Amino acid sequence: MANDKQIVIIGGGITGLTAAYYLQKQIDEQQLPYQVRLVEASDRLGGKIKSVKKDGYTFERGPDSFLIRKPSAAKLAKEVGLEDQLIKNGTGQSYILVGDKLHKMPSGSFMGIPTQVRPFLFSSVFSTKGKLTAGLDLIKPKGKQASDQSLGLFFRRRFGDELVENLVEPLLSGIYAGDIDNLSLMATFPNFYELEQEHRSLVKGLRKTVPKKKKTKDKKPSMFYSLENGLESLVDAVERRLKNGTLIKGVSVDHIERKNESYHLLLGSGEVLKADTIVMAAPHFAAQRMLSQYDFMDPFKEMSATSVANVTLAFDASAIKKDFNGTGFVVSRNSDYRITACTWTHKKWPKSTPDGKVLLRCYVGRPGDEQVVDLPDETVVDIVMKDLKKIMDITEAPEFTVVSRWKNAMPQYSVGHKDRLNQVRDHMRETLPGVFLAGSSYEGIGIPDCIDQGEEAVDKVLAFLSA
Ligand code: FAD
Repeated sequence: MANDKQIVIIGGGITGLTAAYYLQKQIDEQQLPYQVRLVEASDRLGGKIKSVKKDGYTFERGPDSFLIRKPSAAKLAKEVGLEDQLIKNGTGQSYILVGDKLHKMPSGSFMGIPTQVRPFLFSSVFSTKGKLTAGLDLIKPKGKQASDQSLGLFFRRRFGDELVENLVEPLLSGIYAGDIDNLSLMATFPNFYELEQEHRSLVKGLRKTVPKKKKTKDKKPSMFYSLENGLESLVDAVERRLKNGTLIKGVSVDHIERKNESYHLLLGSGEVLKADTIVMAAPHFAAQRMLSQYDFMDPFKEMSATSVANVTLAFDASAIKKDFNGTGFVVSRNSDYRITACTWTHKKWPKSTPDGKVLLRCYVGRPGDEQVVDLPDETVVDIVMKDLKKIMDITEAPEFTVVSRWKNAMPQYSVGHKDRLNQVRDHMRETLPGVFLAGSSYEGIGIPDCIDQGEEAVDKVLAFLSA
């Protein structure tokens, strides 16, 4: 209706889609006089979520799963009718490549931190000196109180360099694709800081707080969900439930001006869209450009986002002469390899791959080796194949390969991120009331974190409009 309050969401990744879906739900249930529009720069929705179906395989170019223990993503999947398509990952041994050898990941570790002493004492991943240094965590005093510090500094201080470089770093940089010596502890794992402050030793703290696994012969429990037809089916299902007229695709928001009590959004098409309230669910650098007249947005100019690439390779099972019983491996920096991780996708997600075939997905682009992302496809595939052959003895060429590049895709929460974000938000509340930031650039990059932020944005918008 002409007098309806206008809500505009910028960005149609999972954050913006979540906000659109739950706003529409509230508007319908409460019969609110509001209209929602979602403006997406590209022709497709989903942002980083992109699935491929090819020759009987289903695989992902971007994220391949989401954590089961963070419930918002499974909740959204159920909301949009995909409950029966949720699948859990196949479990098995995971490995870590150190030097030239695959070592079993020691059991009882949480993000690389030991919660049981025995598996670490007998692990082949560390030298005796590395084990002794890591063991000092049990007797070291707690660190001084600090508003923030880097993940690297924190973990090196507690466990020494070897445990950090062979275990913690490969696991954490797999999530954030960043340099742990720059990443903020408080913006990524504030619970580790709190554990140290409360229990002094992280190992002791984790043993007290992480629920003990029951001793059983059953397999270890799955930690991740995906969707049988790929994660993009979640994007499609949300899109199908949005009312006609909600989506404006293939048009960017270039600039935002405050006009008295409302906002004018200048679109790439030259049109102007009016809004009473805005959810900015595009990356931080895009948000800064849209509001470049405000100096308080400058911290987002400085905030980096790293680039990664992954290569999916399909083989006939006969091509792999050295098979491992497990789901994949991460690569320690103390190895002469350019891949940073490899998922044995056919084992982690058995439904993704036809019988008798093998599907591998390898990442490249560690900090300091980001230029690999810009190399031509054939060169990236050669780099990956060279590394894989050393580990798995592969005798035939892949049946096909798919290279996926993600430029400036992984926002980096460097030390001080939370304080800088709070300052920007304080300014926005004063200067741009009704404009809200949400998404992977701000409070968590995992899919459930983005969905949580989309849901929080809904609450903020509704509170703003009803004030
Ligand atoms: P995006 O998906 O980036 O969406 C933002 C949207 O805004 C885009 O569609 C973009 O086109 C649009 N936009 C930009 N500028 C404008 C503008 N000016 N006007 C209008 N629209 C604009 N997470 C997990 O939980 N599990 C995983 O396994 C996992 N693996 C990952 C693997 C890779 C390779 C990558 C890149 C990420 C991975 N992540 C994973 C992280 C997760 O996928 C992302 O953090 C999340 O999907 C980001 O969602 P978003 O909506 O915040 O942003």
